[in-house]
Amino acid sequence: MSEAKNKPATPMFKRLALIGIGLIGSSISHAARRAGVVGDIVGCSPSAATREAAVRLGLVSQAFADPVDAVKDADLVILCSPVGTYEKIAAAIGPHLEPGAIVSDVGSVKAAPVREIGQHIPEGVHFIAGHPVAGTEQSGPEAGFAELFDGRWCILTPDDTADKTALAKLVTFWEALGSRVEMMSPQHHDLVLAITSHVPHLIAYNIVNTAAHLERVTDSEVIKFSAGGFRDFTRIAASDPVMWRDVFLNNKEAVLEMLGRFSEDLVALQRAIRFGDGDMLEKTFTDARSVRRGIIQASQDTPQPDFGRHGTKERSS
Ligand code: NAP
Repeated sequence: MSEAKNKPATPMFKRLALIGIGLIGSSISHAARRAGVVGDIVGCSPSAATREAAVRLGLVSQAFADPVDAVKDADLVILCSPVGTYEKIAAAIGPHLEPGAIVSDVGSVKAAPVREIGQHIPEGVHFIAGHPVAGTEQSGPEAGFAELFDGRWCILTPDDTADKTALAKLVTFWEALGSRVEMMSPQHHDLVLAITSHVPHLIAYNIVNTAAHLERVTDSEVIKFSAGGFRDFTRIAASDPVMWRDVFLNNKEAVLEMLGRFSEDLVALQRAIRFGDGDMLEKTFTDARSVRRGIIQASQDTPQPDFGRHGTKERSS
């Protein structure tokens, strides 16, 4: 949904509380206002600077330092802070949640948050975890934009006991924000995202630091000739360090399993180069190229050269 042509006469939720108003929280605010699905939006952020910016930018009508104040009268609460903050926030807000409210999150990891938030949700409040698979390397309340979720997947991980009406409402909410919604178990989510997002970020962080620490190539050469491929890794490696620290601390098993597979495949390529096995190299590169074509066919990126970077906001996850 790129425009809210059919804004509902009555918003789906009277008050949305965003716990964390960075890239994702602010994008939810923009997209929810565009769709007209919420009445009021309030927020919570520890730093006064973020609270001030969120009110100034019109992302929230009020910004609180304490999440307990933010969830008062909220019928939808979304945790949009780093995954490592979830348990403490959930413990604090649990006793103050409105009966019938829906609580969700946007964490890039799902099994740990489902456990950590779920234990603090009282009877009569509906907790359904989620992850919009959309993002950029930018952070903070000024980084958000209404189109971030357009055409992107939002994964929800309800368990068998999830309230059907609450689940349907959350699906409608994310669709109104422009997303396509898919359901899976938290464990499967973590495995899929380990290879599609977490390991690629780790590789990007690692290659950028490897280049930075080289002795026989100067830093200025690395920057000057970065268009050779390195530059695309630096964009991913510019992502928020706290967010990514928490992702790896909370998705340890799946990331280690995928890293094991990755390392084996890398060694196979290393051997092919060492022994001059051109057929193996060419086949590997051809297979990889077809994956890129599949992503474009699924509308998850544009076919323009340079990763469609010119004239569009770069989106990743
Ligand atoms: P961000 O731009 O760095 O924003 C994080 C926000 O959380 C800031 O407003 C920060 O407040 C707030 N915060 C930190 N500790 C908090 C606490 N204890 N209580 C309440 N708020 C707190 O990060 P982001 O990119 O929006 O990521 C937020 C979440 O979205 C993460 O869980 C991440 O895994 C998930 N996610 C990110 C992406 C992505 O590409 N970035 C994509 C999908 C999902 P201050 O500014 O006051 O410090």
